Amino acid sequence: MATSDNTENVSVAQNSLCHNDGYDKKCIFCKIINREIDSELLHNDEEISCFRDIKPGAPHHYLVVPTRHVGNCKSLRKEHVPLVEKMVEMGKMMLEKNGITDLDDIRLGFHWPPFCSVTHLHLHVLAPVSQMGLMSRVFYRLDSYWFITADQLIQRLNSQSETS
Ligand SMILES: [Zn+2]
Ligand SMILES: [Zn+2]
Repeated sequence: MATSDNTENVSVAQNSLCHNDGYDKKCIFCKIINREIDSELLHNDEEISCFRDIKPGAPHHYLVVPTRHVGNCKSLRKEHVPLVEKMVEMGKMMLEKNGITDLDDIRLGFHWPPFCSVTHLHLHVLAPVSQMGLMSRVFYRLDSYWFITADQLIQRLNSQSETS
């Protein structure tokens, strides 16, 4: 795994570290976004980043995350709805870019705490659902108490009152 022919990347990583104040140094996703961990960033802009899940639960399995560290979905409020919507858009775009045309056969959602291993907010983007194995179907199951779809989360946030 560890090849040492990318000294160029190392200096880039150190540079971007100084700019990113939404950085949690204990967080593995922050490290991926800052290119401290060797993982291919499929998308990276100021707001949103995307990379592959290291344990894919479907032929296509992407993680869409805010570039700045944001806590898990339980910590979100109504003001985060535009961010979540952008994450969903990015997820769908990534699937289309990779040849997934049947958007009825996809799953987009979040693990509900305490069922997420990383606290950095991340949207699971899986496709095709029809090719998911048994364990993945359980792990990313609709209407379970450990997994919430992006639509359900947006609905839930929208129904919160402004002050809570
Ligand atoms: Zn993070
Ligand atoms: Zn998760």
